Amino acid sequence: MRIDMANERERVIEDGPGHVNDRGLPMPEADSIIDSIPAMVAFMTPSGELEQVNRQILDYIGIPLDELKNWQASDTLHPDDLPSVSAAWMHSVSTGTPYDIEHRIRRADGVYRWFHVRGLPVRNSEGTITRWCVLQVDIDERRRDKVLIAKALAEVSSSEERLRGIIDAVPGFVWSASPEGSVGFVNRRWCDYTGMSLEEACGDGWVASIHPDDAPGLGGYWQALLHSGDAGEYEARLKRFDGIYRWFLIRAVPQRDETGRIVRWYGENTDIEDRKQAEAFLAKARSELTHLARVASLGAVTASIAHEVNQPLAGIITNASTCLRMLGADPPNVDGALETARRTIRDGNRAADVINRLRALFSKKSITIENVDLNDAAREVIAMLLGELQRNGVVLHPRFAEALPPVRGDRVQLQQVILNLIMNAVEAMSSITGRARELIVSTGQEQDRSVYLAVKDSGTGVDPQDMERIFNAFYTTKSSGMGVGLSISRSIIEHHDGQLRASAHDGPGATFAFSIPNADNREACDRVMENH
Ligand code: ADP
Repeated sequence: MRIDMANERERVIEDGPGHVNDRGLPMPEADSIIDSIPAMVAFMTPSGELEQVNRQILDYIGIPLDELKNWQASDTLHPDDLPSVSAAWMHSVSTGTPYDIEHRIRRADGVYRWFHVRGLPVRNSEGTITRWCVLQVDIDERRRDKVLIAKALAEVSSSEERLRGIIDAVPGFVWSASPEGSVGFVNRRWCDYTGMSLEEACGDGWVASIHPDDAPGLGGYWQALLHSGDAGEYEARLKRFDGIYRWFLIRAVPQRDETGRIVRWYGENTDIEDRKQAEAFLAKARSELTHLARVASLGAVTASIAHEVNQPLAGIITNASTCLRMLGADPPNVDGALETARRTIRDGNRAADVINRLRALFSKKSITIENVDLNDAAREVIAMLLGELQRNGVVLHPRFAEALPPVRGDRVQLQQVILNLIMNAVEAMSSITGRARELIVSTGQEQDRSVYLAVKDSGTGVDPQDMERIFNAFYTTKSSGMGVGLSISRSIIEHHDGQLRASAHDGPGATFAFSIPNADNREACDRVMENH
């Protein structure tokens, strides 16, 4: 039941001064004053009995004062708060000390709200307590906010802890910096790795951990990122606590507010030492492989040539010295000398025979004849040589003809020729400065429908009078050259019924090209030969 407070108040005022109103207040002025306090106020007897209340209490509880006086504390207080409230109240009443407690009070509609309740003893001139004045301030919302804030704070701190846990568990290093680039945080792993403390790393202290060769480059890059506001990444070496450097990929990303202003930089460093080492090994391995492939095939050929030629050469030298001895005798043995001179010539011819036989042998050695797509064959060789080309600063332009007919031949031997031509071109450009080192590998069909592959470079070029000489065995202009590459390549191509030529072209450099009858033509040719 609610009380009509307006009527109640009117009645009090009508009572006029000097009367006690029906709520027990001594004067209507006092009644109106305590009614205007924006809190619930109650007056209790020295022994703790309810004496007077203001209208806020009646309004809140929803019953008249007479009824309220007969109510038990348990009728208005939350059962959970009852023990602590009665203990505090008993203590204050028995000792006369102020009463100060927070508890819930039931509203007229049955809802409990939190109140801050303070009881102060009112004493007379002798110091005796005449009544208790109890102030009840609604703190329900504040308390709810407080609880919410406490809960939120607990969550924030636990999520912060979780976040820190995650950041520390990240396998890489995590850091953050101010919009100006001053580092304010590095995770524990970063500290464990570098042996530096968070305080030491902050600001630009972290620079001490960067390899001296990488620090200026990284510093410049970081400044450029701070200036442009772009995300970026940089590879640099970081010093471990024991002085060992490892390669890291350092990434930085800006975090922006809704206006687009950078509020923070976040970074992450990933250990890429293993990748770096694998890369270095793979480059090296590829160039060694190429070199080995060349040396192995050329080495085997030259060793067998040396062995075969050695015998007739030894004979020539023996015969020549016998001849000299015979001519120098007294009297000179002219017949004997003539005979040994004839044998010298015979041995010379034998040596030449051996070379010719070897070339023939080499070109006739067991080979696999199949349809070969020169585009594919060349692509494979180029793929193998990409590292070599890059290292030598060579820019490759492949110009492969579409729908190129296959040729009949030995794929490996033809690839050996392509490899030789490309490596010669790379070597011819190795001393070139001041112009691009350009390599064009092209394929196509000649008018007679044979298929060609050309390797054009921008290197030193070939002197016109040396155009044929360079194909001779053991002709080389290189200090470490063997001079057999072109000679063997020509043997291979001739064995495929093709031709290998060198030519000059407009501008610097040389072009080496071979052409081979295409597979269809070859088959037609073979059939004609069989029929005759
Ligand atoms: P090597 O490369 O061992 O000298 P080669 O028979 O492959 O043996 O080449 C013989 C010579 O031909 C080289 O020493 C070089 O003088 C010349 N030559 C070959 N290819 C080129 C080229 N692309 N440009 C200029 N000269 C070349």
